[in-house]
Amino acid sequence: MISIHSEPQPTDLGDVRVANRAVVLRHVRLHAPCSRADIAAHTGLNKATVSSLVAELIDQRLIRETGLTENRVGRPATMLVLDGEPYAALGLQIGADELVAVAIDLAGNRLLTWRRAFAAGTASPTETLRALAALARRAIGRVGAQGRTVLGLTVGVPGLVDSAGTVPVATALGWREVPVAAELRAALREPAFTVGVDTVANLAAIAEQRHGAHAGTADLVHLTGGIAVGAGIIADGRLLRGGRGFAGEIGHLCLDPTGPQCFCGGRGCLSALVGLPAVVRRLLPDVEADGPVTDYLPELQRIVALARQDDPAVLSGLAETGRHLGQGVAVLVDLLNPEAVVVGDHLATLAPWLLPAARSGLATRAHAPGAGGCRLDASILDTAAALGGATAALAAVEAGRLPGR
Ligand SMILES: [Zn+2]
Repeated sequence: MISIHSEPQPTDLGDVRVANRAVVLRHVRLHAPCSRADIAAHTGLNKATVSSLVAELIDQRLIRETGLTENRVGRPATMLVLDGEPYAALGLQIGADELVAVAIDLAGNRLLTWRRAFAAGTASPTETLRALAALARRAIGRVGAQGRTVLGLTVGVPGLVDSAGTVPVATALGWREVPVAAELRAALREPAFTVGVDTVANLAAIAEQRHGAHAGTADLVHLTGGIAVGAGIIADGRLLRGGRGFAGEIGHLCLDPTGPQCFCGGRGCLSALVGLPAVVRRLLPDVEADGPVTDYLPELQRIVALARQDDPAVLSGLAETGRHLGQGVAVLVDLLNPEAVVVGDHLATLAPWLLPAARSGLATRAHAPGAGGCRLDASILDTAAALGGATAALAAVEAGRLPGR
């Protein structure tokens, strides 16, 4: 008997409509203001289909008509743009010494950016999640007061994240098996919108690809700074997650077996050489005289001030850090051949002093000539992971699903 189960099944017409809706939304996002005829001409959808989808998207307030018309041969056309008014998406981020909340509208415009001092490295998971939930509730309240419906919320964690939104390990936070998504959903009383969790590196890469200086680049890596150095990898236009979602953990790549102790238990890891606590400890030897550092921003500002004054010890320490950074980036470049590697957080703040040494280290260490054409730059995005979290929270709607379904 011949089984028919492996034969292609007819596509559900509902699926086709969802996919076409996504195509129309994407065209409007990238090319607004644009007309119905533009959409039909550029997407290959027929005009009747476009008209029907546009009517539905206007009805759902995902796009709107503007008063603008386009004069060209034939009739003037009504122009369409994304509707920025009715919705918001939220991104949260657990940083080295702060919690961050960002809200954006459907077009990616920032509605709020909040930073709250919080020592996540020394707090318990329960304390951190309680503070995160309080911040989320306030952000939801703020956008709700503007009359907006929240489409989704994504939290960035400096650690590994599985597909259920649980963090099996976040060494920098001292976390093991923390069900972040489930606990946050419960703390927010099971909201109608999706609560997602991802690594800060993945979310920062999503933000870079959408909003950064190399936006639209198909092969791009964002290397996070802060407490945990990690890579968010966009390969061939898509986030590279690996089999269980743990790809990109380059922070514990050993660069020097005799190097400084890492918080993971190893020695000479990339994190132990270029991570924020490591850099602060190396460049400001007196920093822990009064106990462990819980607030890194003032220390980072001290390093910047000393570098601006051409302090020789700080400049040579930053150049050494830059060389280590270049070594780590060379591994990424040899493995992935990205068009750009963008560094974030304190690596971006210290970029004027780190990147010259890092670029020359990269050019020397990478196997491909000219580092395979890779640009190494500092991120221009503020709070990239939270922005990426908000961007990721739009994914369902951008994939063509209607809000609230
Ligand atoms: Zn390590």
